[in-house]
Amino acid sequence: MNNINRNILIGALMGVALGFILKIYPNWLLYEPLLELCNLLGQLFIKSLKMILVPLVFFSIIVGVSNLGGNKKSSNVWKFTLIYFFSTMAIAICIALLVMNLVNPGVGMIIESWPSTPEVIKNTMSLKDFLSQFILGLFANPFQSLSSGNILPLIIFSILIGVSLNSLGQKGLAAKKVFDSLYEVMLKIVHWIMVFAPVGIFALLSTMIESQSAELFSQLSIFVFTVIGIIFIHGIIVIPSLLYFFTKITPLQLWKNGKPAFISAFATSSSAATLPLTLSVANDNFKVPKSVSNFVLPLGATINMDGTALYEAAAALFIANLVGIDLALSQQLILFFIAMVASIGAPGIPSAGMVTMAMVLQVLGLPLEALALLLPMDRLLDTFRTTINVEGDLTGALIVQKISKL
Ligand code: ASP
Repeated sequence: MNNINRNILIGALMGVALGFILKIYPNWLLYEPLLELCNLLGQLFIKSLKMILVPLVFFSIIVGVSNLGGNKKSSNVWKFTLIYFFSTMAIAICIALLVMNLVNPGVGMIIESWPSTPEVIKNTMSLKDFLSQFILGLFANPFQSLSSGNILPLIIFSILIGVSLNSLGQKGLAAKKVFDSLYEVMLKIVHWIMVFAPVGIFALLSTMIESQSAELFSQLSIFVFTVIGIIFIHGIIVIPSLLYFFTKITPLQLWKNGKPAFISAFATSSSAATLPLTLSVANDNFKVPKSVSNFVLPLGATINMDGTALYEAAAALFIANLVGIDLALSQQLILFFIAMVASIGAPGIPSAGMVTMAMVLQVLGLPLEALALLLPMDRLLDTFRTTINVEGDLTGALIVQKISKL
């Protein structure tokens, strides 16, 4: 594992370096072949993570929940997990609202022509439709969820299997053993993917850096820097302080041992795709018992999104500033709740926050055209918010383990 950690860091640094070289020398003879190769290797890495994701979530939750048992400790794990998820997302949104109200990026800025967004607007949903679709979407044919990679109903189904194995006692023992053993098989495959991770991360980072547009960045740089600043406050001060307060794990220990998962989150922009690595660092580097990590982490990768929550709040205020609307306190309170709902509803995949962002804008009566302005910089900002999402999940598993005394 130590070698893999080190290789992932080396891969990331080399990827960033190659990305800059390709950006600076677009006429280089090797530009096209290298870019194509990196695209291929990056996609291969993401595809291999997606391949293992669904069976891993399925078996890990069953094993986690069935190992929890039906006692008081298990109800504590549920309770503390949900309290942690909601309170850290609420803190993230409050920081975003506070900083955005202080810095006010976008005020007085003139956008010459708003880009058109027919594609994005077509996908927009009202809050009511969104909520009913979300609730109805919790239950689905498990075989269909497995084949289509629909994670949320899969989580619910796996939790139900885990709980029923507990309540069956002896009668469920044989099935439990099978699930335990299949979970170990999945972990073995995750390990092989981790060996390839440095190459995948190298490829993803080089193509990401190469594709950034400096022009657009300079136009919206105040907003980009404000969002990155908010993410840093949350990810470098708030989350590590909470972790230290509850567990005495220092920020350096968190970042050092969690590095493979954070770098993968940064490179893939997907909490879900990073889940195999998050589980692996939680179990191997932090020795979190499976009964906690296998429940908290898959659920966290799906609903606990601090980075997305703070981004949705910040982006809505930025758009309001751009169009000259001063959102009153009551509207910012609505924004607080809608940003929370939107981030819980966003799946852990790249730019998912952009889709639910449309709903936030709609509820606040802000122009949906603004999405086209946000979209081009989303690849960059998504990397940061996904890293914070994953940091929040891992910290959650560590805190829940500590306070439920497991
Ligand atoms: N990409 C983020 C994640 O996977 C979700 C988002 O904010 O778009 O956690």
